[in-house]
Amino acid sequence: MFNKLSFNSDILFQMASQLHNSATPAYTLAEGCPQKDPASSFSINKPGGGSLLLLQDTQLIEKLAHFARERIPERVVHASAAGAFGEFEVTHDITDLTSAAFLSEVGKKTPFLVRISTVGPERGSADTVRDVRGWAMKLKTDEGNQDWVFNDIPVFFVRDPIKFPSVNRSHKRHPRTHLPDSTMFWDFHNNNQESIHALMCLFSDRGTPASLRNIDAFGGHTYKFTKTDGTFHYVKIHFKTNHGIKNFTDAEATRIAGENPNHNVQDLFENIEKGDFPSWTAYLQDMTPEQAESYKWNIFDMTKVWPHKDFPLRPFGKIVFNKNPQNYFADIEQASFSPSTMVPGIEPSADPMLQARMFSYPDAARYRLGVNYQQLPTNCPVSPVYSPMQRDGAANFRGNYGPDPNYVRSSLRSMTYAAGNVSHDEWAGKAASYSSEVTDDDFVQATALWAVLGTQPGQQENFVSNVAGHLKSAIPQVQEKTIEMFSRVDEGLGKLIAKAL
Ligand code: NDP
Repeated sequence: MFNKLSFNSDILFQMASQLHNSATPAYTLAEGCPQKDPASSFSINKPGGGSLLLLQDTQLIEKLAHFARERIPERVVHASAAGAFGEFEVTHDITDLTSAAFLSEVGKKTPFLVRISTVGPERGSADTVRDVRGWAMKLKTDEGNQDWVFNDIPVFFVRDPIKFPSVNRSHKRHPRTHLPDSTMFWDFHNNNQESIHALMCLFSDRGTPASLRNIDAFGGHTYKFTKTDGTFHYVKIHFKTNHGIKNFTDAEATRIAGENPNHNVQDLFENIEKGDFPSWTAYLQDMTPEQAESYKWNIFDMTKVWPHKDFPLRPFGKIVFNKNPQNYFADIEQASFSPSTMVPGIEPSADPMLQARMFSYPDAARYRLGVNYQQLPTNCPVSPVYSPMQRDGAANFRGNYGPDPNYVRSSLRSMTYAAGNVSHDEWAGKAASYSSEVTDDDFVQATALWAVLGTQPGQQENFVSNVAGHLKSAIPQVQEKTIEMFSRVDEGLGKLIAKAL
């Protein structure tokens, strides 16, 4: 694999000199015992030649045992990723919307960790394939961590979280053949057509970005930006690349997946390493509760956008990736992100997908990293943490609050509590009941995107060929239903796909 990489020699030299500059360490076992030779097992010579290993060779036993346990479970989705560190800077005042401290002042900077992934493929798989890209960001603010767990398309495939495992399975491997399966993929979407808008995004050329520097990122969900005076706005957040959207065609993405399966990881790493720091502009759309309650779209439906003409983009920040991980496993693989990780001034809305992700993401981290995953250096906030009712558990390594009381309302040690824990009105809209019923409304924004593609030379043609290239391996009755589904977006589109097949 390594010979596929063509790091420029400056980068290799810099990386090597970082190692040589540190003081020379003395090699020991993991529990500190100095060792003479890390490259030889300990053995006794047999009379007459040969040698026998000894079970007392702790160094050998530990090296073999540890090696067998090096892999932690990979994420069931978003397993394959690139990562970086960076800085978020407030560029425009939005204190009319939120009292979040990290957004309180123009010029205020907050460091973050970011991980950008494909969704379906396994860890180590080719990273140029057609897929949504996940964008997970942990901002280390003065009031605890703020995680933004976004995607590079503005909408999601389903709005009822009970379908989350199913949609992901349909994009992964068939249970019998262990192969990606077009019949399974389209059969799921034919029968769950609320996904049509996300499919329009995925099968446009934006499904195969030319690099991670050339994608946008979208919050997808509606969030609440709140103030200590009890008021709030609904917001949607968008990060737009400052380098322009650039995509591969389907054929280019397929070719590069074979030539360099790590194209996107390498591109991001090399650009950051040579100081070409990628950047994005952060925008939001905001809506008052009154506007939300009378808006034509259900704002808790993650398959819909808020059209720009109704709710224009308002800039508020700049995002720069400026440092590579020092150690991929410690910094990126052990990172965990959750939409439930929020600071005062940002709150969840009634969006059912958001509510479910707020359970599901930390639950996945508990399984993958253990119950004390928040203590790992990459996940730990930079602000003080005092959470003594959450203690013990495997791999607890930060003192475990010593003798402090482990129960609430102890008279033996007092603590202070956040001021201004104001509760904000809750409006559920149609969020709770709105789930699997698909109506013509679900096709309106997909049709709008088809029209947007018509304004970009060659994009409608590429879309048709991208769908047909995937659909051609499905069984005929699934193909027919898929053509019917795209005909509901635009009659001509259905015909073009049928013709291309
Ligand atoms: P506009 O007509 O004002 O602008 C079109 C939007 O579509 C731009 O944001 C553009 O991004 C984006 N876009 C262009 N090509 C693609 C693609 N292949 N996949 C995804 N997005 C693309 O937008 P409206 O608000 O009136 O919405 C029209 C349609 O645009 C929507 O139905 C939706 O499908 C799509 N869209 C809307 C967004 C929103 O938040 N309103 C966000 C993203 C897409 P860019 O400016 O980078 O070219």
